[in-house]
Amino acid sequence: MGENYPSGTYHNHTTWSDGVYTPEQLVERAIQLGFTEVGITDHYLTLKGGINCVKSEQIADYISMIDQLRKKYLNTKILSSLEIDVSMFNLDRNNLPFDKLNKLDYVLFEYVDEQDVSLWAKTEMRRGKMLQIIQDVKRELEQTNKPEELESAIVKYIQEREDIQQALRDFEQTSGVLNLEDIIKMRKSLTCKVGLAHPNMENLIKIYGAEDLAKFLSENDIFVDVCGSARNSKKDYTDNKRGFVLNAENLSEEFNDAARSYGVKFSPSSDTHKDNERDSMKDTLNATQLIQINDWAFQEF
Ligand SMILES: [Zn+2]
Ligand SMILES: [Zn+2]
Repeated sequence: MGENYPSGTYHNHTTWSDGVYTPEQLVERAIQLGFTEVGITDHYLTLKGGINCVKSEQIADYISMIDQLRKKYLNTKILSSLEIDVSMFNLDRNNLPFDKLNKLDYVLFEYVDEQDVSLWAKTEMRRGKMLQIIQDVKRELEQTNKPEELESAIVKYIQEREDIQQALRDFEQTSGVLNLEDIIKMRKSLTCKVGLAHPNMENLIKIYGAEDLAKFLSENDIFVDVCGSARNSKKDYTDNKRGFVLNAENLSEEFNDAARSYGVKFSPSSDTHKDNERDSMKDTLNATQLIQINDWAFQEF
């Protein structure tokens, strides 16, 4: 591998989700920076931040858009992928359209085993629902000047609030973030390549242990996306030299050894949405370097 490994960047967003570049502009940017392989990895269905995302019924169009690009840029390997949110922001995460996803080159699962993201999702959803009720009641009050109508609006408000709180309680009981074991179960239905998007490796090592984590990833053919930009820094601004820590940097020797001996695969990326200081596509090279320094295996596409 090493020097012969193609220079690629495998996690990038376009205007199909929350990126600012059109797919064509994104490919042009990658070419400008000297990359010979570029992955287009827009968000699959998610409620996170109310962002734009690719829905199940749009996957076929998304893939034909990428096919068109391939015809235009014959010297660049353009890969099709979607990033799948496995937190509570994606209500579809237990019911993914595998047949459609299998037409992609790969999928990236984000927030695997990251419970804090699901807690955050719960709070955001609850706040969204409450804001909606308050707005509805306000609208009703504005139209009402009779006291009895005001009373019925208040009763309705209390009733609706209770209904929503019950719905939230039911929702909380039946859902949560997916963990690595859930992804391994899903892996059997996926014929495309599968990776974890900028996973919190320290967290995963804590949960599964260094050796077992490497074993699970390798045996189930799940690669690790290493994000070299500041966007998915493990800790912000702790390393004065570069100002951030990569999501797979400074892991234990035990994990590094296990990753080498089990042949866990890694792919370099920047998770580019804009291409500024935080998202810079050229920072993919930080990840490429980290993979090379550790003598880990590159995921091939
Ligand atoms: Zn995004
Ligand atoms: Zn992303």
